[in-house]
Amino acid sequence: MRLEKPDDRGRFGVFGGSFAPETLMPALSELEEAFIDAWADPSFHVELDELLMSYVGRPTPVFHAKRLSEELGFELWLKREDLAHTGAHKINNTIAQGLLTKRMGKPRVIAETGAGQHGVATATACALLDLECVVYMGQKDIERQALNVYRMELLGAEVVPVVAGAGTLKDAVSAALRDWVASVETTHYIIGSVVGPHPFPWMVREFQKVIGEELKVQMPTPPDVIVAPVGGGSNAMGIFYPYVGDPDISLVGVEAGGLGIATGKHGASLGEGSPGVMHGAMTYMLQDEFGQVLEAHSISAGLDYPGVGPEHSYFKDSGLVTYESVTDDESVVAFHRLAVTEGIIPALESAHGLAWIIREASRLAGRTVVLNLSGRGDKDVQQVAALDE
Ligand SMILES: *Cc1c(COP(=O)(O)O)cnc(C)c1O
Repeated sequence: MRLEKPDDRGRFGVFGGSFAPETLMPALSELEEAFIDAWADPSFHVELDELLMSYVGRPTPVFHAKRLSEELGFELWLKREDLAHTGAHKINNTIAQGLLTKRMGKPRVIAETGAGQHGVATATACALLDLECVVYMGQKDIERQALNVYRMELLGAEVVPVVAGAGTLKDAVSAALRDWVASVETTHYIIGSVVGPHPFPWMVREFQKVIGEELKVQMPTPPDVIVAPVGGGSNAMGIFYPYVGDPDISLVGVEAGGLGIATGKHGASLGEGSPGVMHGAMTYMLQDEFGQVLEAHSISAGLDYPGVGPEHSYFKDSGLVTYESVTDDESVVAFHRLAVTEGIIPALESAHGLAWIIREASRLAGRTVVLNLSGRGDKDVQQVAALDE
């Protein structure tokens, strides 16, 4: 059964909780209280809804992909999160957490980022809402994602390189958490997905569920299948949550199969991982026999994460959602296919969802399928072009 909210220990069944340093507990309690208070306050919703409409561009359209539908033999619809300001669903969360930061009277925001997408969405919200913004980013990612680093700086954010560890997302999260321990009085930490200690997974789900709520109103008839890519799990949670528990609708989350599950180089935390504690929550994760976090691998930066939001772990174990994976190669084929049939270049993350749909086309015959097109692919064009060289 779907849970409206986690239990009083912040758990979804056995998953979630808040495995955080003692020094952060007051900040997490303060945040939970502030969120509950804001979410029950009609004036917060008025302010948020106004920004979602006039700034983010919500509701995002639902588009009937007629050419691809004809080729595949069933009706395919796209929920166009790629048309949201900054090009993906992440802004839904950062704008809402930015407003909450103001409400808590904190002038400063920190965030972690991998490829830079969450960093850009956070820097955008901070520019709009006049908040100081510091983004932690692994040194290796800074080198790989120079354009997003410059974008964040254009938006007035400070990007702090993290040289510890492998210099990637996991290390950036640790650095952001260290900053937060020292700065909680003045600072809010905007986590970018339905991950982290309670109340983040619940709060970010509430901020993203607008995607599925809009879809319910927009679809002429209810869909049979809804598909979304799963990295940390926020876009999938956003579109799934309003439908979870409906026996007539199949929900399918698609993880990164990387170079192939058998190679061990993938990001399929739900499909191939096991429960453990990561970034403050009990959840499925990729770990070795000693509980050390393994590195994830994906062509798609947004899916390159060795954990997943704890509520997805709960959905998996209770059978409410099915989780599958596709490889890097399959996602690139789907990326090209959507471009030539519908004139839409999808994010490589979103292309993972489409790749599963294409693979399963014969099984989906006659159904109505919705893909959460979580983001646009402009950011990935150079990477895909390099594959052809
Ligand atoms: C970040 C990102 C994702 C993965 O994050 P989730 O929290 O799983 O949604 C998926 N698609 C796009 C376009 C992204 O930018």
